[in-house]
Amino acid sequence: MTSRYSRQELFLPIGKKGQEKLRSKHVLMIGAGALGAANAEFLTRAGIGKLTIADRDYVEWSNLQRQQLYCEEDVLERMPKAVASARKLRAINSDVEIIPHVVDVGVQELEQLTDGVDLIIDATDNFDIRLMINDISQKNKIPWIYGGCVGSYGLSYTILPGKTPCLNCLLETIPLGGITCDTAGVIQPAIQMVIAHQSAEALKILTGAFDSLRHKLVSFDVWNNQYRTINVSSLKKASCPSCGENQTYPFLSYDNLTKAAILCGRDTVQIRPGKVQERDLDHLERILTAQGIQTQRNPFLLSFPVDSARLVVFKDGRVFVHGIKDITEAKKLYHRYLG
Ligand SMILES: [Zn+2]
Repeated sequence: MTSRYSRQELFLPIGKKGQEKLRSKHVLMIGAGALGAANAEFLTRAGIGKLTIADRDYVEWSNLQRQQLYCEEDVLERMPKAVASARKLRAINSDVEIIPHVVDVGVQELEQLTDGVDLIIDATDNFDIRLMINDISQKNKIPWIYGGCVGSYGLSYTILPGKTPCLNCLLETIPLGGITCDTAGVIQPAIQMVIAHQSAEALKILTGAFDSLRHKLVSFDVWNNQYRTINVSSLKKASCPSCGENQTYPFLSYDNLTKAAILCGRDTVQIRPGKVQERDLDHLERILTAQGIQTQRNPFLLSFPVDSARLVVFKDGRVFVHGIKDITEAKKLYHRYLG
């Protein structure tokens, strides 16, 4: 019988031994948007042992242009991305254990999600979470692979605790800004290029081919035909609070307690309750229906219109207020309907 991994095993740097190693590894994917969905698909097809996927959002029409695991049905059902991706990934390779989490990842969640993990892949869209990932990676000695993309531009960098400079070391020197928001739009080939760099590095780490890792930060623009690598090894700082001689992990010391935040590139405010608590969606649905409000449900979230806005309530207590850009206005709506 031809092994489903035969082509990968024939590739000498991996071989049967590398494949066996892959099978024993656990990867944490933070984010299940364009980068997360494709990285997850690749690692699932490659035959890793376990994949944990954490994402706070659900699938929308504007995602389908580039988020390759999702289809129209997911949009119509407002499927959380973590759940929708798990469904597709299990169909692709039932040997891989897929663990979806519909959650807004903060410090508390990172502490739990990184337990027993061999590698973290950054598929997020903001720096607050990347700096938390950076600190947890240093604290728990887990490598992580940074990836960012906007417009036709992308970049990637692999961070090995105790060896390479960390993200915090690079912050003042390397122009990483601007990769925080999708308001400038983004095209699929730029994303695929970031994914190619992230997943190649992931394969090397997971099969133990550390000598083959790219130690440079890579950045490119597929529209303007630029590609460059930056040697950052001299930027490792002994005074860095994340990876230096006196590690205090500054981005783990507060739990990003922003109760409300404007979501990147969308007329949406996310409200996150101070305490993580599960919300009884059945109960909420009954109350709203009694007030004559039409609700829409799936097992993971409930949504309802208010004036020109729409509120989407997740089981973990978070709420998206769509159609509003102002945090105070969004909070007012939240308190009016949800306590
Ligand atoms: Zn550092």
